[in-house]
Amino acid sequence: MADTHQNILIRGGRIIDPGSGLDAVLDLWIEAGVIAAIGPNLSPTGPHRVISAMGQIVAPGFIDLHTHLREPGFEYKETIATATEAAVAGGFTTLCAMPNSNPVNDHASVTEFIRKRAERAGFARVLPVGAITKGLLGKEMAEMGDLVAAGCVAVSDDGHPVSDSEIMRRAMEYSKIFNIPVIDHCEDLNLTADGIIFEGMTSTRLGLKGIPAASETVMVARDILLAELTGARVHLAHISTAGSVSLIREAKRKGIAVTAETAPHYFTLTHEQLDGFNGNAKMKPPLASSDDLREIRAGLADGTLTAIATDHAPHAAYEKAQEIAHIPFGIVGLETALPLSLRLVEDGVCSLSDMIRAFTTGPAAVLGRANTMGCLAVGRAADVTLIDPEAEWVVDATLFKSKGRNSPFIGWKMRGRATAVIVQGKVVENG
Ligand SMILES: [Zn+2]
Ligand SMILES: [Zn+2]
Repeated sequence: MADTHQNILIRGGRIIDPGSGLDAVLDLWIEAGVIAAIGPNLSPTGPHRVISAMGQIVAPGFIDLHTHLREPGFEYKETIATATEAAVAGGFTTLCAMPNSNPVNDHASVTEFIRKRAERAGFARVLPVGAITKGLLGKEMAEMGDLVAAGCVAVSDDGHPVSDSEIMRRAMEYSKIFNIPVIDHCEDLNLTADGIIFEGMTSTRLGLKGIPAASETVMVARDILLAELTGARVHLAHISTAGSVSLIREAKRKGIAVTAETAPHYFTLTHEQLDGFNGNAKMKPPLASSDDLREIRAGLADGTLTAIATDHAPHAAYEKAQEIAHIPFGIVGLETALPLSLRLVEDGVCSLSDMIRAFTTGPAAVLGRANTMGCLAVGRAADVTLIDPEAEWVVDATLFKSKGRNSPFIGWKMRGRATAVIVQGKVVENG
């Protein structure tokens, strides 16, 4: 980077670093983009900026394992600049970009384009996720080696899951050569068919075609079996059902290298949100039952689910204004994930440190980067998120940095928000 780093003293915040177990009111000193000291009453010399963090939480920068940037190809929904700006507004310093752009990120040139655009935007860091198969068509494997060499940190056919188990097996075997995880969107497309919302009382009441919970759990079971067969690191995206949580819990007990994430909407909302044909509650996997919600929370509490990801999926207003059957799946999530997750702490599901872990060391470990990311140790690149846990605000989608307004949380009263985000020693947001 061309410009020089400004040294920063973050004074008097409650530093919570799940990686090291630190939870104490201390100062944090950032020098030349790197965490240089953590301790009481630091008084560094030389020119520097002071950020007073009294009453605030100082956490490692949040990492989102699952974001749809929409660029290249769908800039009318979102751009890399607007998504990464939304990310820092929500407290994220790093995003993993899903490959379903146009062109698909199945080629090193697309990976490079995404990285350059993100660098130029100058907000959050973007780690591209490459496609498993060319064009996400599920037929022919993409050049995984080229994708990794260009900067991809994982592979996934998110949104168009690999139905062919033989191709998935080969992808897992290749992934071991490059030491990257295979991220799967678990969905049996035949079971889903033209389903619109979760199969249950609400789908019956509204007369809408349902998506059975088994659509997810069948593929979770397959992926666990393939993970066991290949020994690959398999990461299961946006887990939404009780059955999936129990399969993953059992697989981990057996020592299979499977990890899994959920998203805030799955531990906050149920399919009743679709009453009144609310298109802003339509996503894949669909919002499920209250039993599922309870088990998602239990999975976070007992460490079956080790990451909270947003599955941020912006769409244009006119696309979301259609009749429910035609509305595209997906909701935005970058700017509401933090306060929704703080509710887990308020509800006694997990400790504040464990909630922060699901955004920091949890996702870093999924990527195999726990020794370089998601931690506040001295010597690490300074990615820091400052949080005011008491800040009260109401979700107003017109104030989103994201171009997407498709949130089911519009009008909700929230508590807690990111007040400053530091990416590699640079303050990129200060609310
Ligand atoms: Zn997905
Ligand atoms: Zn997705």
